[in-house]
Amino acid sequence: MIKELTCICCPMGCALRAEVDDSGNVISVSGNTCIRGENYAKSELTAPVRTVTTTAIASGGKPVPVKTKDPIPKEKIFDVVSAVKSANIELPVAMGDVLVADAAGTGVDIVATRTVR
Ligand code: SF4
Repeated sequence: MIKELTCICCPMGCALRAEVDDSGNVISVSGNTCIRGENYAKSELTAPVRTVTTTAIASGGKPVPVKTKDPIPKEKIFDVVSAVKSANIELPVAMGDVLVADAAGTGVDIVATRTVR
């Protein structure tokens, strides 16, 4: 079976075609301009991951931009965002501070992407 997808690793957005066998194994990838596209297609078709960026609200109502320190499984995105929304965050926060450890049991921390006082 042929699967078509767009590489999201850089703004070029190469159109990828991946040949997948009946067991879900990626046999070949074409249309990529660099190796990142091949790696992206293999990951996306077997175990898709995403880096999540969102905004937490600190006590007092100030917004704090945050992101996952590493990519998380795609199916955990809503659980991770929910963990961010329910976190109790006290200011000040420095860029890089861990605001939620092991978000939603992913083993990945949520960190601040900006200093907020
Ligand atoms: S395959 Fe390479 S050049 Fe093409 S979008 Fe992906 S990262 Fe960019």
